[in-house]
Amino acid sequence: MPASSTLLRMEVNELFLRDFRNYREQTVSFDSRCNVIFGENAQGKTNLLEAVVYLSCGKSPRARREQELIRFEADRASLRGTVFSRDRTFRMEASLYRGRRRKLTVNGVAAKSAAALNQVYQTVFFCPDDLYLIREGAAARRRFLDTALCQLRPRYALALAEYRRAYEQKTRILRDWEKYPDLLSALPEFNEQMVRCGAAVIQYRARYAVRLAEYAAANHAECSGGRERLEISYQTVSAVEEPMGDAGKIAEQLRAHMSAHGEAERASRLCLSGPHKDDLLVRINGQDARLYSSQGQTRTAALSMKLAERELLKNGSGEYPVLLLDDVLSELDPRRQEFVLNRIAGGQVFITCCEDDRLPKLLGGKVFHVKQGGVA
Ligand code: ATP
Ligand code: MG
Repeated sequence: MPASSTLLRMEVNELFLRDFRNYREQTVSFDSRCNVIFGENAQGKTNLLEAVVYLSCGKSPRARREQELIRFEADRASLRGTVFSRDRTFRMEASLYRGRRRKLTVNGVAAKSAAALNQVYQTVFFCPDDLYLIREGAAARRRFLDTALCQLRPRYALALAEYRRAYEQKTRILRDWEKYPDLLSALPEFNEQMVRCGAAVIQYRARYAVRLAEYAAANHAECSGGRERLEISYQTVSAVEEPMGDAGKIAEQLRAHMSAHGEAERASRLCLSGPHKDDLLVRINGQDARLYSSQGQTRTAALSMKLAERELLKNGSGEYPVLLLDDVLSELDPRRQEFVLNRIAGGQVFITCCEDDRLPKLLGGKVFHVKQGGVA
């Protein structure tokens, strides 16, 4: 794939929604550069961004269950997007039902998995909740790594999915083995699957984390006027000596670690060994950001990481992913706002803000006014 070309574009040109969240029926044509979505609270701004993200990956950045996306009074929701990417136009479609499996299609052809949507276009979504990226436990940072890597490397998505299936089977065995001791005979098979896929997962994550650290540090330094130094390092199973090294060697070390913890796993009835416990250690000026960073530092670090994700996705596909900033600009001081506005040029951007904001004027681009599930 081309590493850099100024001709490539990735953008959502048109979106049609029926019975999605608080939208009954709505068609919107977007600008290929900047789309400012403003309106009062609880009108449907975030819902609109959520639809753009959903069509890119089959996942909502905030809903726990798909059902939440279907309008309260309706039985099904439809989303359709016309997307320009890789020099072509794609029609993306998702139909969600109550009590039935969803349907995803690309150009009228059923998508085997959500990964097929991802190959058409990618998104980076940033909202105030992403401060948890710094403040919360390891799961939030693993999710951040996985979301980017699944978009960037289809093989990673496959390895991770296989790892998770084996992990779930093993978890079930560990939970029930005392009642059904025969289950233990299947354990070696799942252990081996976790070792094999886990080695691939670690290698991809470690390599990605190095580049992420580099880009995020540059963003953070610029955003803080050179006053702060952001460091990100990847933490995985302690037995793995070189996470970026040979996959065979990583697998060997994972296997040894797992077998050393076999007894403890059966006793605790939990999977104790493997990259499902990985984390990213984030430090600002040498201190653990999770424990010591201020609100502003946290926000800057989270933003720097998200913008780094965008750069890395662009390096992978040659096209900037669609960037969606939900309610973030108004929370930044003017200097940081300026930094973000300078940084987001180059790809398609969606920005939401509240009615009384000065941002619509500042940003330019196409302005949409959202009111009670309608866009004008
Ligand atoms: P804010 O500025 O407060 O972030 P917003 O414009 O981003 O507001 P949204 O999060 O888009 O608001 O939500 C708009 C409305 O959609 C909310 O009032 C919410 O209750 C409603 N809503 C959410 N899910 C559904 C659903 N499944 N059916 C109908 N309405 C829904
Ligand atoms: Mg919102």
